[in-house]
Amino acid sequence: MRLPWQMLSRTNSVGQDAEPAPVNSPGHDDPRITEGAGAQVSRGANTQLSWAARTDVGLVRGHNEDSFLAQAPTFAVSDGMGGHAAGEVASAIAVATISEHAPVHADDLLLGASVEMANAAVINGAETGQGKPGMGCTASVVSIEQNKMAVAHVGDSRVYLLHNGALVRLTHDHSYVEELVDAGEITADEARVHPSRSVITRALGSDPDMYADHFTIDVSAGDRVLLCSDGLSSMIEDSQIEAIAVSSATPQAAVDNLVAAALQEGGHDNVTVVVVDVTDDGVIEQHRRRYLLRFFTVGLIIMGICAALFVAATLFVRNSWYVGANGDTVAIYHGVNASLLGHDLYALSETTTVQLDDLPDALQSSLRDGVVVSSEAEAHATIESYRDQIQTDKVHAQQVADKSTAGTETSQEKPAVPKSESEGEDDEADEGGE
Ligand code: MG
Repeated sequence: MRLPWQMLSRTNSVGQDAEPAPVNSPGHDDPRITEGAGAQVSRGANTQLSWAARTDVGLVRGHNEDSFLAQAPTFAVSDGMGGHAAGEVASAIAVATISEHAPVHADDLLLGASVEMANAAVINGAETGQGKPGMGCTASVVSIEQNKMAVAHVGDSRVYLLHNGALVRLTHDHSYVEELVDAGEITADEARVHPSRSVITRALGSDPDMYADHFTIDVSAGDRVLLCSDGLSSMIEDSQIEAIAVSSATPQAAVDNLVAAALQEGGHDNVTVVVVDVTDDGVIEQHRRRYLLRFFTVGLIIMGICAALFVAATLFVRNSWYVGANGDTVAIYHGVNASLLGHDLYALSETTTVQLDDLPDALQSSLRDGVVVSSEAEAHATIESYRDQIQTDKVHAQQVADKSTAGTETSQEKPAVPKSESEGEDDEADEGGE
């Protein structure tokens, strides 16, 4: 059955009968609830966060209906309502359920779902006799993961963010006076002292279809996150919260000073404050990982290129042939006529009887540098062409030699011309010339 939260008052007068120990009291065997009713504190730290929490019954109420959760990366404040043996049960059920179902990562949708599960658990608790019918509570929850913070929220507890010295309220109160403020009918300061300031319009414990506001924002190293019940925000102004949050050196000092300030103003309500400092948002680590990833990626690419070039060069060398000099003879080589890092890129494949001296000088010079051929077969063909050339040259030289010899013999066999005729002709020629 849906309860009219608009009509629910969280007043709880002083002087009630002795109270049974709340389910989230110190010593309770549920370790997920780090602290509970009364004046209790909790603090802790990990590599990215440092936190502290304090809840105090205040100076007017007889018992503490607030609960909180400080279980990194999840932090929550829940303000119970419903009176004695009800409000504290509702808030304890809520934080226990949220603790169990909150996502590991900063996922605001799942965080909101955990609040909605808490709503079902509170409703079920009332129906099964745990607590009392009509009990309910608020829930303001954050989950911080590196530079992301998921927020889920129902009711008039609050989440603030202190960034660069300025305090910003992240949540919107689900309360009657907040609606009046939104409508421009009263100011925020007037809302704090309005007689209907305790009337809330959305809470856990009545409507099975209740939904949670949820969103995700960026946070950075140096930010301070503050969660509180209305026992703080209704007692001191946001400007005072900001001043104390800025001036407090540690989360522990911040929660102590904030609770003290609420008590100093009268402590009319239970007051609960959770402060979380973001000491490392993981951005530097992300940059380091990105740099390493880029470094290794570039390295792998360069190694891949080098490997491809090596394979290509190896294939090229293995498929290369040339004809070159091997001492005084011509030989066939496998590879290329070069060296790399002291290693020859060629190997002697076959020697021949072709003498370098039998070849033209220009060809001898080319052979000393290596005459590249396309295949071993072409190398053999080239060698044969050299043999043919040498043979041709030898034949030609022999023919020249034979002609020379024949010319000499012909000259020796030519008949002698009579000297008188010869002389006569010479004389006539001489006379004609003169
Ligand atoms: Mg309260």
